[in-house]
Amino acid sequence: MFKNKTAIVTGAAKGIGYGIALALAKERTNVVLADMDESANEKSAKEIEKETGSKCVAVKCDVSKKEDVDNLVKTAINEFGTLDILVNNAGIFPSKPFLELTETDWDKVIDVNLKSVFLCSQAAAKVMRDGSKIVSISSIASLVGFEGLTHYCASKGGINGMTRALALELAPKKINVNAIAPGLIGTPGVDAGLNDEAKKQMLTMIPWNRMGLPEDIANAVVFLASPQSDYITGQVIVVDGGWTLR
Ligand code: NAP
Repeated sequence: MFKNKTAIVTGAAKGIGYGIALALAKERTNVVLADMDESANEKSAKEIEKETGSKCVAVKCDVSKKEDVDNLVKTAINEFGTLDILVNNAGIFPSKPFLELTETDWDKVIDVNLKSVFLCSQAAAKVMRDGSKIVSISSIASLVGFEGLTHYCASKGGINGMTRALALELAPKKINVNAIAPGLIGTPGVDAGLNDEAKKQMLTMIPWNRMGLPEDIANAVVFLASPQSDYITGQVIVVDGGWTLR
């Protein structure tokens, strides 16, 4: 299904991005892993290549910087000739009460989480052929409120709006544009931000009674990146073990 296709996955050195890169590589996709953390990213690319036999390339990239993003897309094309799948995954979720947020805090989260989706999607759409796929990782924080995360919630709500508008603009090129809104997923980022007590408290919100795994999100990405979802565009698909049902 994915043989000879090429994907870029941002924030792929660890966490959900790593899970997505691995799942796409298992489907025989060439994967360009983009991340700020250069050494972890190179290690991840080597690991995935060894495990799957698919070609993986690591590119150091700050997704909030246009120059880096342009270089990322150029590298994908130079290495593999085409770009068929873009997964906008890189994101940060620093918690801070609204009244203490500085302009710098706000700009950082919006730049890394939302401006990056503009930069990467635009650079990718310019070189993508008909039938390509863009999938962005939003969050259930785009749908329900979380204290301490006003900037984050705004950035993810922005992704949802952008997904719908971009899906319309790219429909004539038959490029599908969708987003996934994960609930709580066990990743290094979550481990660093939440203590055990907070995690326990959050588990009470999840009808499935477990945290999600990167594979839970990766499976949805593989579906949205495949021809099986050709008639789905502009949607935000919630993958949260039922969190937002009540
Ligand atoms: P993670 O464990 O922190 O991994 C994110 C990766 O992205 C890290 O390798 C990080 O590098 C990299 N990164 C950060 N800023 C970047 C930048 N400017 N350019 C390129 N790479 C950058 O995070 P995660 O939990 O896997 O989350 C991945 C995505 O899912 C994010 O968009 C997040 O908002 C979304 N999400 C996560 C959850 C969850 O519960 N985990 C829930 C909903 C949505 P460094 O480590 O060096 O910063």
